[in-house]
Amino acid sequence: MFNAGINPRLPLEKLTDDDKSRLFKSVKQTLLKMTAAGGRDTEKDIFGRSGGYETVMSKRTLSQPCPVCGGAVARQAYLGGNVYFCPVCQPLERRS
Ligand SMILES: [Zn+2]
Repeated sequence: MFNAGINPRLPLEKLTDDDKSRLFKSVKQTLLKMTAAGGRDTEKDIFGRSGGYETVMSKRTLSQPCPVCGGAVARQAYLGGNVYFCPVCQPLERRS
């Protein structure tokens, strides 16, 4: 969602066709990279080894600035877990 510039709290019905296209491409590219690297660095395999894919927005990167704008990364509880996002690069309200 970070690579697509979409806020994780944005309701599906508010996604434009352009949002959906960017998100679809981003999901495919990111999952390919995660698979090639043996999973995310926030997860472990059955042998206890962390994955080699460096997450961009996660508990591991919360204290670091956004890699695009340099702003603070936000963490919010959502659907039983947490979401990490940049409020500037992934705005909830659309700039028109
Ligand atoms: Zn940002």
